[in-house]
Amino acid sequence: MTFTVAIVGRPNVGKSTLFNRLVGKRLALVDDQPGVTRDRREGDAYLFDCRFRIIDTAGLEEAFDGSLEARMRQQTERAVEEADLVLMLIDARVGVMPIDEHFAKHLRRGKTPIALMANKCEGKVGDEGLMDAYRLGLGEPIPFSAEHGLGSSDLYDVISEHMKRAAEKIAEKETTTKGFAKSIEIEDDFENSEDEFLEDDDFFEDDFEETEEDVKKRGPLQLAIVGRPNVGKSTLINKLINEDRLLTGPEAGITRDAISVEWEYEGHALKLVDTAGLRRRSKIEDKVEKLSASDTIRALKYAQVVALVLDPDGILDKQDLTIARHVIDEGRALIIVINKWDICTDKDAVMQRLKDRLLTSLPQVKGIPVVTISALKGHKLNKMLDTVLEVYRIWNIRLPTAGLNRWLAELLERHPPPAPGGRRIKLKYITQARARPPTFAISCSLPEDLPASYTRFLENNLRQTFDIPGVPLRMHMKKGD
Ligand code: GDP
Ligand code: GDP
Repeated sequence: MTFTVAIVGRPNVGKSTLFNRLVGKRLALVDDQPGVTRDRREGDAYLFDCRFRIIDTAGLEEAFDGSLEARMRQQTERAVEEADLVLMLIDARVGVMPIDEHFAKHLRRGKTPIALMANKCEGKVGDEGLMDAYRLGLGEPIPFSAEHGLGSSDLYDVISEHMKRAAEKIAEKETTTKGFAKSIEIEDDFENSEDEFLEDDDFFEDDFEETEEDVKKRGPLQLAIVGRPNVGKSTLINKLINEDRLLTGPEAGITRDAISVEWEYEGHALKLVDTAGLRRRSKIEDKVEKLSASDTIRALKYAQVVALVLDPDGILDKQDLTIARHVIDEGRALIIVINKWDICTDKDAVMQRLKDRLLTSLPQVKGIPVVTISALKGHKLNKMLDTVLEVYRIWNIRLPTAGLNRWLAELLERHPPPAPGGRRIKLKYITQARARPPTFAISCSLPEDLPASYTRFLENNLRQTFDIPGVPLRMHMKKGD
């Protein structure tokens, strides 16, 4: 059983336009077979990585005799009968009409979940209609423009949420999670052309270096704790591993680049890479308030996740930022740990300051996780480790090619790349070339002409759409027609 979405609404609100948009010209699977009455306009729709069946009830307006109301009732009944989710459209430029209210009333009586869409919302003309739509009692309307493709990500959120819920329901009923849940899995067979593209070895920077099996076999998560002297790194490390061995012997860290300790947290093997030697040396050398770039590089060599420890008294100053940038440039996952939270008097001001600094000074990575702890008291150390595991997971993420390409196609339609000097730049396919950190490659007709701002826009949108916060993300444009 495939998840089915029905589009309903009075004539002229934009149902067919939405249908066409969701089915997409490329897939063009409109079920317009002879012998099938026009009211059976159905298609395979996709929206980013969601795939579902869509029914357009626009045809019903012509298929039945009788009053408009009678026809609408037919529409509604059929939609409610067949669909897992009903999208009811109104025309936001016109506002709510009495017939829309009738419609909503019928729908509310049914059991099928309904999402209300205020279509034709581009520009300001639709604002009033959008507000008006609330009174239909169908929840928050999704501002949309079927003609211009605006609002797709909101629609996506709604559809994917309902799909998830429906899948969960089915999974509850069946002890096995086969069947429906399987049918809404992200599909990985996109188009033939893409297969060719995937076979194009040149396109990849290198192949995935790991299989799922490899991932399982992968060694412990390597975590480094860095930060300026006196922020509390030693205290933190000691608390984490609960032993003093690390810091007792003065020789411990000095002879090597780094020493490490392995332990387990919630079933995950962790390896704490300690640059204690470096740190202690700097302490011995009259506590110079710095952590040099070369020290950080050394720490990074052994780490996958880096916890940058800060003191609330000097939140993310120039030195901290240098370290943070370094971590990001090296493609490692970063978390920010504010220590000594127990003695911090103005917590709000510290958080605000940090937020501002992240926004202005590290805008390339959105959503870097921040945790506040007290190493001394052992407060929130589990939260910190949970966050470490979470960024590590994201750092390892692998997105299916089909979903990525749907996302790209959708985005290009809405926001095509600029045409410098009238030359159109074509972006064709996208694939994730590697993980750790997530690295994507897009084939582009004129990579050198594509403005960096557009690449950044793609990166940000991808990050948001696929929920990849806080880790470095790379996007390479590869020459391809
Ligand atoms: P249906 O009768 O509900 O299937 O509506 P159609 O899809 O045929 O659209 C009716 C009219 O509204 C057409 O002229 C569309 O071009 C127009 N239309 C559809 N969506 C939008 C939109 O988002 N904005 C604007 N301004 N017009 C739209
Ligand atoms: P390192 O140089 O970064 O390794 O910092 P240390 O671990 O040596 O800590 C520097 C000082 O800060 C010591 O006096 C610690 O006791 C103190 N300290 C560390 N963590 C905390 C904390 O969470 N709260 C408070 N109040 N003091 C802390």
